[in-house]
Amino acid sequence: MKRVSVYFSLLILCACGAVIVSEIVERRSDYPTVSSSQTSALGMSGCDETTIGADSETRILSAYRIENGTLGTRCLGTPSVEVRQAFEMLALVMPQEHLRQLDYFAGFAWLGDSDETTHAYVISDENSLSELVMAINIAEFDANPDDALLTLTHEFAHILTWADEQRLPGATGSSCTTFWNGSDCLAEDSLLWRWILAFWSAEALSTLTPGDVALVADGEGRCALDDSFFGPYAASHPEEDFAEAFAAYVLGVRAETPGQQKKISWMSSQSALQPYRTRALKAGFESIGNTYEVCG
Ligand SMILES: [Zn+2]
Repeated sequence: MKRVSVYFSLLILCACGAVIVSEIVERRSDYPTVSSSQTSALGMSGCDETTIGADSETRILSAYRIENGTLGTRCLGTPSVEVRQAFEMLALVMPQEHLRQLDYFAGFAWLGDSDETTHAYVISDENSLSELVMAINIAEFDANPDDALLTLTHEFAHILTWADEQRLPGATGSSCTTFWNGSDCLAEDSLLWRWILAFWSAEALSTLTPGDVALVADGEGRCALDDSFFGPYAASHPEEDFAEAFAAYVLGVRAETPGQQKKISWMSSQSALQPYRTRALKAGFESIGNTYEVCG
């Protein structure tokens, strides 16, 4: 039930809910592979350990380029059935034209604290959404495949809310009049800013430090007082709140509290978000279980 996030570095500790894995089509055919020396020779760049997200706690096992919204050539590590399966799951819910925003899809091994296991993350370079990477924890995917789609959909929500049209280009922390997350300023009519206006008080926002890692512990207090959150991690930060509620809405998680229902209703009232729910329904995800820790 724990997730950790650093804005674009979204370190997920939890995946909740039961996903209909029988709907998932496994594709085990081999994809073509190029070595790093070949990619250099071809003039491609970026598929290196640092770009994909390796650090002292994260070892990259496999990375593929996203080519035209599909899983393309492997550019790092070894072939991974889990990475392919995860991408296929994501593609069931997210349209190909949106998956084109991703540059890489990868699998990693978590070397850090086992009490704070990262399940997935999205990273990009600091100033734009170029070199956008989504990665999954392969061992956790194997252990909890039923939870994977909620996690992937949560991650996709972050990409959605920080797309170019959702942000004010050139804004700084001091000039931003909406919400500054430490690197970007939300546009006035952005989904996330409207979400914040609807559900986050100025007082709650004042307790956040831009750029800080969102921790479950940060959300425990808000979770205890407000039944609208899908677990304490959602209560840690508006972006995590939006991402959890988006995943719940898209995958048909039933609200456990009046507050959760308000958030799902808000999601379902957004014409920009309805197509994702429609697509999930077509893929067979009518309703998956609500295993979020109840707040309030
Ligand atoms: Zn997140």
